[in-house]
Amino acid sequence: MAHLKLLNIEKVYPNGTKAVENISFEVAEGEFVVLVGPSGCGKTTILRMIAGLEDISNGEIYLDTKIINNLSPKDRNIGMVFQNYALYPHLTVFENLAFPLQIQKIKKFQIKSNVEKISELLQISDCLYKKPKELSGGQRQRVALGRALIRQPRILLFDEPLSNLDAKLRVEMRTEITKLHRSLNAISIYVTHDQIEAMTMATKIIILNNGKIQQIGSPEEIYNLPKNKFVASFIGSTPINFFDCKLLEQNDSCTSFSLTNGEMINIQTKRKLPEKFTLAIRPENLSVSQMQNSNSIKGKVVNIENLGYEKNLYFEYGKSLYSCKSNIENPININDDIFISFLEDKLLFYNEQGELIN
Ligand code: ATP
Repeated sequence: MAHLKLLNIEKVYPNGTKAVENISFEVAEGEFVVLVGPSGCGKTTILRMIAGLEDISNGEIYLDTKIINNLSPKDRNIGMVFQNYALYPHLTVFENLAFPLQIQKIKKFQIKSNVEKISELLQISDCLYKKPKELSGGQRQRVALGRALIRQPRILLFDEPLSNLDAKLRVEMRTEITKLHRSLNAISIYVTHDQIEAMTMATKIIILNNGKIQQIGSPEEIYNLPKNKFVASFIGSTPINFFDCKLLEQNDSCTSFSLTNGEMINIQTKRKLPEKFTLAIRPENLSVSQMQNSNSIKGKVVNIENLGYEKNLYFEYGKSLYSCKSNIENPININDDIFISFLEDKLLFYNEQGELIN
């Protein structure tokens, strides 16, 4: 089974910029790995080192058991899809798709048959004799995908391939790409800063910040048990809520702590909490009521987003803004006071260094 492994990879550019350090991860055949993180965190650099387009300053890249650091890009059996499609504008779709096979000196009839097969798969058979400028964004991206796939590479690399498409097309192409990946049983590595793409497409997510890996895990692990506050805040389409807390008392049966406004909360937890900590909870794990109850905090609603199937409520508590969810029938209005309580088994605790207390 094909297997790609990065071991302690570091990249220092000639101008001295250390783009990434200590990057280690493995990808097996059939896995779809998404590298995600804010702009400048080193995602593209990692992808380009795997493709052989960028020298590696330190560390090794293995394909199966062989080190491929010095293997030229064309010998790596890798297909790459870029954000800007990178199609040849003066060539037709047919010629763009045929190009990687012509370089390999494949016979003409074989090229024709492969181009026809891949264009059927990607539903672009009608466009074969058009030039890229005559195509829609989605069609261009399909041609770019076709060109990456036509040599049947073992490894597929995607660098933000959907960022130039409109929202509806992005959703469609997400499904197309994951379907293709599954049918080829490829090793896919996909770069994005869109956390929805990461959550919906990945079998494994790698979160990066400042050139370093913050966490590697399945989408569920990353969402439910973020290892540090950076990961917790980066993943989640409505941001996670953080509350600064002071421990008041902790014994076997009860843990009491106070929040910013001095309210006292009592919970049961097995985690040993320090004197100061941050409590984090996702918006869907807060329950909202218009009636005060014990263990709740009072907030004022400042904005409501109606999503049709539920509402996002934004409320002020202390001097900060928080969010929770409410069902569509709930008659809550802007400026209403609401009472928020926490689903205890969904609480996450972080120490002063921002690391998860487990
Ligand atoms: P984005 O999401 O904006 O594309 P990224 O996560 O892909 O960002 P990289 O493009 O890999 O980030 O860049 C990582 C760091 O390396 C950044 O600080 C960037 O400025 C720097 N960098 C990238 N290419 C070069 C280069 N050729 N020379 C010097 N520094 C570079």
